[in-house]
Amino acid sequence: MLLGFLFAAAVSTANQGSAVPLQIPNEPHLKAVQVIWREKKVPAFRAGDAWTTFLGVDLDAKPGEHRAVAVLTMDDGRVDRREIAVNVVAKKFPTSQLNVNERFVQLSKADLSRANRESQETEAIYRRITTDLVPDEAFTVPIPGGTGRTFGARRVFNGEPRAPHSGADLRATTGTPVHATNRGRVVLAKHLFFTGNTVILDHGLGIYSLYAHLSRIDVKRGVVVKNGQVIGLAGATGRVTAPHLHWGMRVQGARVDPFSLVR
Ligand SMILES: [Zn+2]
Repeated sequence: MLLGFLFAAAVSTANQGSAVPLQIPNEPHLKAVQVIWREKKVPAFRAGDAWTTFLGVDLDAKPGEHRAVAVLTMDDGRVDRREIAVNVVAKKFPTSQLNVNERFVQLSKADLSRANRESQETEAIYRRITTDLVPDEAFTVPIPGGTGRTFGARRVFNGEPRAPHSGADLRATTGTPVHATNRGRVVLAKHLFFTGNTVILDHGLGIYSLYAHLSRIDVKRGVVVKNGQVIGLAGATGRVTAPHLHWGMRVQGARVDPFSLVR
């Protein structure tokens, strides 16, 4: 049947550390669309005559061709599977040398166990794929006009190599309002060891945004914020060299450049 061939040759090209937007044209009798990607089931949502979703390509994803499978469920229960090739292109990331309070480099036993506990908590959040809210509006930069694209930088703190930079640092002074990148549910709003006062929003489909080093948090866990709503003020809490906004995005757990979600 022709149906199976309409979408079979779809190919997307993506940099390491980016979100891949996917659009699948709607068809008569199509009831649900799900994309299987890196062993995860990623739902798509319908808006007008297309089904949309985003796939996360991690910072350290292997360059080359990766395969996703779109699973189309028809209203009579019939299921149609179509392959999508995602061609991952290697990206060169710079190295940055940073000087911070030694407490954040040589961790005390108590700080180390706290940091590990918090990392487990945030990773557990990023594993969840929810669908009650979906990102049907465009993602926006949390500080309008904000610049500073240091995503992916290999980092050396006080001479010690540490994890690569998994977000974008936006220039900001303490007190600059920070806006939600899209509509989302607050799933974390508290002080963490490395990221200081932190807010994490769930935008659905496994897409999460993180706002770190805030001087003030203005939202509570559980509430739904609008796209552009102020969620707190920029600051210098946690492991920082100076006030700024650290803006991170996770897409099905993958660390992606936040700017790759902004059209
Ligand atoms: Zn940062």
